[in-house]
Amino acid sequence: MHSVENFIAGSFTPAQSKQTINNFNPATEQIIATIPRSQKEDVEHAVTSAHSAQKEWSKLTLEQRADWLDKIADALEEKTEEIAHTESMDTGKPIALARRVDAARSVSNFRFFAAFGRQHTQQTFQMDDAINIVHRTPVGTVGLITPWNLPLYLLTWKVAPALLMGNTIVAKPSEITPLTANMLAQTFAELGLPQGVFNLVHGLGPEVGQAILEHPGIKAISFTGGTDTGRIVARTAAPMFKKLSLELGGKNATVVFADADLDNAVDGAVRAAFTNSGQVCLCGSRIFIESEIAEHFKQKFIEKVRAIQLGDPMDEETEMGTVISPEHLLKVESYIDLAQKEGGVILTGGTREMTGYYGPEGIGAYLRPTVVDKLPHTSRCATEEIFGPMVTLHSFTTEHEVLEMINQSEYGLAGSVWTSNLERGQQFAQQIESGIVWVNTWLHRDLRTPFGGVKNSGVGREGGQWSLDFFSELTNICVKETREN
Ligand code: NAD
Repeated sequence: MHSVENFIAGSFTPAQSKQTINNFNPATEQIIATIPRSQKEDVEHAVTSAHSAQKEWSKLTLEQRADWLDKIADALEEKTEEIAHTESMDTGKPIALARRVDAARSVSNFRFFAAFGRQHTQQTFQMDDAINIVHRTPVGTVGLITPWNLPLYLLTWKVAPALLMGNTIVAKPSEITPLTANMLAQTFAELGLPQGVFNLVHGLGPEVGQAILEHPGIKAISFTGGTDTGRIVARTAAPMFKKLSLELGGKNATVVFADADLDNAVDGAVRAAFTNSGQVCLCGSRIFIESEIAEHFKQKFIEKVRAIQLGDPMDEETEMGTVISPEHLLKVESYIDLAQKEGGVILTGGTREMTGYYGPEGIGAYLRPTVVDKLPHTSRCATEEIFGPMVTLHSFTTEHEVLEMINQSEYGLAGSVWTSNLERGQQFAQQIESGIVWVNTWLHRDLRTPFGGVKNSGVGREGGQWSLDFFSELTNICVKETREN
């Protein structure tokens, strides 16, 4: 069992109160670690530590900080197996997925921002009689708050650009999945990252998270999590004029037109629905199918969903592990009950029965991938974010009709459109009120592109230039040319 500590001023240290929280493996329901239950005083310590490191860190050149990012990427890459194993144990996701997605992306986040930073050139705007030079300075100490679904992947997506732009960090990972953030801190300690540049405080959102939001010495908050929590973040931090980036929830649509390559669309829709047990903010949990192919699509879709190998996350063959916790399992199951009450028909799933796992029965937050048909698109199951292995199916007859149904959502994070007519796909995608739409693919990511949601899915963009902008203050210096007489 790990006894995880905070990482402040380059040292591992318990919460000042000495209180701890248990951390569970959702597949075995065993305690695998304890983490500090930090409070305001621990955040105070972390902010003091970050402030004392700020000046030296910001004095480094962009190139020197990019070198640091590369060193971090190399060190994390060497730990790929350890990261994948730890993430799988902490989240219940399949080890193969943790290796392919979580571990790999954590490395590429650092590598990408190192390379992107080196290509950065200073912007200037020439006038007839003057030149404007855009300068970037660090924001200062920034607060990074992250969720449980892609723990290290999402934390490093913020840490890399924050460090690159010369900021110091106070980070808080989800209390449900703290282990790989701790590994990141250990990696920084091993590499000798200057002390205080990165500080990690563990604990509960309303306690330590709230203390980060409220601390006047933290100048920007980059938050990824649920929409309700996002409201608290905005309510607390906006009146203090902190820079805010909010990456929130979604209820994403998958739209399959009759002219789509059906096998490709079925594969894509299954992947979009059930990757990471449906616990990716970009997952497509409402599937809209053009009516003339609806029955054929459903048949193929169900066949594929039934074939998903659900089981022990540590088994290399497993395609779907658990959901994040027994509590979350109950939440998803409450939506399955609701679906039936609302008149929905469960085409497959809805039970805890497993395949490919022969451990003790009844243990582990397992739920079969669940497909619900016949619900109105306005039902609660089709409009609220469930964030689990459950999707609803809906059919449509015209583009106009399906667009209306999609855009009625209060969310606007992601979507995918499946059609063999690429022009139509693009035009339709543009009309979906959503931060990102894929045509004939899903979760195909180029890290240079803007990432973020509209409506209740968030405020601001991450990725490439947008991350550099968020983690720096842009100032303009206008120099008037002196004319010789
Ligand atoms: P959550 O909002 O419950 O928690 C996110 C983080 O906020 C955790 O670290 C939590 O401890 C902290 N927190 C909670 N209350 C807080 C408070 N009062 N002050 C400060 N911090 C507080 O979200 P979750 O359940 O961990 O994650 C699932 C949600 O995250 C889903 O809604 C999902 O869509 C969303 N998500 C969004 C994206 C995106 O990029 N838009 C990516 C991943 C997940």
